[in-house]
Amino acid sequence: MSANKKIVVTIDGPAGAGKSSVAKLLARRLDYRLLDTGAIYRSVALTAQRRGVAWSDPAATAQIARELDIQFHFVGERNHVSLGGDDVTDAIRAPDISQGASQVSAHPEVRAALLDLQRRLAAGGGVVVEGRDTGTIVFPAAEAKFFLTASVEERARRRVAELTAAGRPVDAEVTLREIRERDERDASRDVAPMVPAADAVLIDSSTQTLEQVVDSLAATVLARSVERI
Ligand code: C5P
Repeated sequence: MSANKKIVVTIDGPAGAGKSSVAKLLARRLDYRLLDTGAIYRSVALTAQRRGVAWSDPAATAQIARELDIQFHFVGERNHVSLGGDDVTDAIRAPDISQGASQVSAHPEVRAALLDLQRRLAAGGGVVVEGRDTGTIVFPAAEAKFFLTASVEERARRRVAELTAAGRPVDAEVTLREIRERDERDASRDVAPMVPAADAVLIDSSTQTLEQVVDSLAATVLARSVERI
């Protein structure tokens, strides 16, 4: 006999590769929880900004990370983020907070402070985790790992469309430059650089529809969650 066990699924990759949309649809399809680790780094950056703490300060931003009181909850189709009861879902998506998240995430102290939090939030399995290093550092034993990417131009185009739809139009050239800068910083940092796990399935989303990507991930997850009982 066999049954489906609830596993940990990691989806890593650069900004704009479609991770958020894919992770959300996959979580819905599997009836899994969704853990958006980028939202955690963004929340550290937002809290620092609100308290007048410099993003370049490793000790002070790590302290914020240790004390972070973050909650996720779905409202309709949106994964809402609250900090100490304050809904920051929109505030953490501002372009300056994207840069701030990238800066605070380069501090080893901040990453270490957030390891436990991420593992606690995923306890028990049945979760899709989305981020940069979730298959390599945070959940090295995850049963299904994916690395999702797309060309830099396609990723910039998607980010512009997403922000425009959210009522925050941005300049296409500036967005392309910012994505290149973030890629460079995320891939070249000393601690937890953004690289695919050796056992991750690599997926290029430039040439596939969202549905095709989700179908293929769901098939892999189902195959790996079969358990003999
Ligand atoms: O995915 P998102 O754009 O929300 O992530 C914001 C920033 O947080 C990224 O640019 C990256 O620097 C950082 N991050 C990270 N590790 C993760 C998730 C996000 O360093 N697991």
